[in-house]
Amino acid sequence: MNVLVINAGSSSLKYQFLNAANGQVLARGVAERIGLSEAFIKQSLNGGDPTTLTVDMPNHKVAVQEVLTALTSDQHGVIKDMSEIDAVGHRVVHGGEKFASSVLITPEVKRAIRGCFDLAPLHNPPNMTGIEACEDAMPGVPQVAVFDTAFHQSMPAKAYMYALPYEYYEKHGVRRYGFHGTSHAYVSQRAAVLLGKPYESLKIITCHLGNGSSIAAVRHGRCIDTSMGLTPLAGLAMGTRCGDIDPAIVTFIQEKEQLDAHAVDEILNKKSGVFGISGVSSDFRDLYDAAGEGHKRASLALDMFKYQCRKFIGAYAAAMGGVDAVVFTAGIAENNADIRLGACDGMGYMGIYIDPYKNTAVKGREAIVSTDDSPVKVLVIPTNEELAIARETARICGMAL
Ligand code: ADP
Repeated sequence: MNVLVINAGSSSLKYQFLNAANGQVLARGVAERIGLSEAFIKQSLNGGDPTTLTVDMPNHKVAVQEVLTALTSDQHGVIKDMSEIDAVGHRVVHGGEKFASSVLITPEVKRAIRGCFDLAPLHNPPNMTGIEACEDAMPGVPQVAVFDTAFHQSMPAKAYMYALPYEYYEKHGVRRYGFHGTSHAYVSQRAAVLLGKPYESLKIITCHLGNGSSIAAVRHGRCIDTSMGLTPLAGLAMGTRCGDIDPAIVTFIQEKEQLDAHAVDEILNKKSGVFGISGVSSDFRDLYDAAGEGHKRASLALDMFKYQCRKFIGAYAAAMGGVDAVVFTAGIAENNADIRLGACDGMGYMGIYIDPYKNTAVKGREAIVSTDDSPVKVLVIPTNEELAIARETARICGMAL
């Protein structure tokens, strides 16, 4: 079955049209500058060169119609008409406590997603706009919501509660939710396949290290802990996000720098992380270049990142009572051997031994990079959230893959 996967942001709409059975990507693209001047759609078919189409897109509804026009176009399209789209899968960032799984979108589901707007004010509203635009443009085509938070809903209360007055949890839903769930689920399942072991028998630590980074502990097929929290600001230091800090720093900086709450939030989200430490860039490639030229703060940022990864790996092995596999995924971990090595450095006492030769040879492809006799296997598995969303959509629609 062919699924259109939609990831709607505030002024952009990323999409992939793919065969959920074999994973073949028939088309991928992005509608950019929705609601702004000089809007355009960039689309490539079957992995070919992209075509850029200049189109007026005052809102998401028009953007979805233009994407459908691009997909069905005689010149640069990939299907004859819309009847070849069997279902639409939407990435929805926050499902709160309401959604522990993907779900067919109904009016009630939309109400529940709206109920999570407060928890993800930057993401859920545009996600909903994308859903409604697709409903309008494709009446009768099943629409499925796949949540970034759903995989983490299996965490026990001792892992997801914060030691704050309990009423904040009851009144405002203040707890750990975790994100990147679709990716953690996909790579942990894939690790079991690559290791030839039942998913339910394994203790896996998944490290999603990209623009945003998070680590999860997956025991016997269920997430039991993860590093992001109420929001994606928690856990590891990221490109521009601070990750875990002493919470007292917030009011301390507010007073010292005379900042209001909004300004501090901006600093923690946009000016911190490896960018804040290095003063160079949020892109790890730039940090490696700078560190190579002797830039001390770039080296410090990289050292901090690797050290923090190590601490989470150690903590999650303790949380699960052991670990069978450590999986690296997303832009940084798929492409950078030194980060993987640093994140597992000195962990032989836990049975984690990376083979430096195998590790250096791997970039952006599936591989086992631990030594042959390493008790804990270390894997690189490129994430594929779109394929995971397409498969979830097919499953929810009861369609055979
Ligand atoms: P997202 O999907 O969260 O936007 P990605 O998973 O695509 O992010 O990761 C993007 C990040 O991957 C970039 O910020 C860049 O720092 C990092 N990256 C890509 N290639 C490399 C590399 N060879 N070495 C280190 N980092 C890399």
